[in-house]
Amino acid sequence: MRGFEFLRPGTLNEASALLATGDAAARPFAGGTGLMLMMKTGVFSPSRLVCLRQTEAEHRAITPTGDGGARIGALASLSQIEHDPLLCRLAPVIARTMTTLANVRVRNVARIGGTLAHGDPHMDMPPTLAALRASVVTSGTASRTVPVEALYAGYYETILQPGELISAVLLPDQTGWHSVYLKCTTRSADDWPALGVAVSVRMDGTTITDSRVIISAATEKLTRVAAAEAVLNGATAGLAAFTAAGEAARAVETIEDARGSAAYKTELVGVYVRRALQQATGAGGN
Ligand SMILES: Cc1cc2nc3c(=O)[nH]c(=O)nc-3n(C[C@H](O)[C@H](O)[C@H](O)COP(=O)(O)OP(=O)(O)OC[C@H]3O[C@@H](n4cnc5c(N)ncnc54)[C@H](O)[C@@H]3O)c2cc1C
Repeated sequence: MRGFEFLRPGTLNEASALLATGDAAARPFAGGTGLMLMMKTGVFSPSRLVCLRQTEAEHRAITPTGDGGARIGALASLSQIEHDPLLCRLAPVIARTMTTLANVRVRNVARIGGTLAHGDPHMDMPPTLAALRASVVTSGTASRTVPVEALYAGYYETILQPGELISAVLLPDQTGWHSVYLKCTTRSADDWPALGVAVSVRMDGTTITDSRVIISAATEKLTRVAAAEAVLNGATAGLAAFTAAGEAARAVETIEDARGSAAYKTELVGVYVRRALQQATGAGGN
């Protein structure tokens, strides 16, 4: 491994400036769990790592937003998020997702900004946060707010520009929404999933008034499935609507890898979307 700089700026703006050099081998370093794997396997060889952990305390805080939602600083650890009382109340699906994500040691170290920026489509938190209608806020004078599902440009690829850092995640009010994340592993239980499905459904009585259907792992990048949502919105919650939504979701382009063929994953998509909707709503049997 070649030598590299390891810098520890005191502010996020300073970190952005240290990264806006045009050098693709200069990267922000949050928990380092993703980066270290890539460095150990030789996939990535940095020229400069800019550690974000000494930046302002607000980037580690989880606070209510006043409109029923929450702001999660990008440097909050996954364990902090898993056990945060505000988030446990607002969106219990987050803590449930965490119990399927790696292990306590990884969750103690990994940060939510690094988790979202990594861009590996097999990861668990991006689909869950996209189903919860979360957005990321980026740093600097050109700060922008981007829905989680719009963050990804391709396999391990985000729309973030050099020096543009995730500073926070915004989670809107979840009143009336019911959310579930399911993942299907086809080899060992702790292997990367062949498919991740996250759904959120808002109901008025038995009528579905709004929905989110997100697919990951089986696709090149996290994908919001508008066709399945169109089937659900306005429908009566039940097996017929959930089966039809699963059928509509099968149109997403799946990819073949060691965890299964594209055709097999398409079958999984149909079944798991239906199951996730049944679990989220408690309707349509189980
Ligand atoms: C043993 C092991 C098992 C794992 N199992 C799972 C699993 O089951 N499910 C799962 O979802 N994940 C799993 N992971 C992946 C893990 O979730 C990620 O490695 C972790 O979430 C990345 O967070 P980090 O803070 O360590 O990021 P880092 O490694 O520090 O960074 C990851 C990427 O994001 C960039 N980055 C970091 N912070 C920011 C920021 N604020 N703004 C912009 N870019 C930024 C970095 O430059 C890098 O490109 C596993 C990892 C390990 C090591």
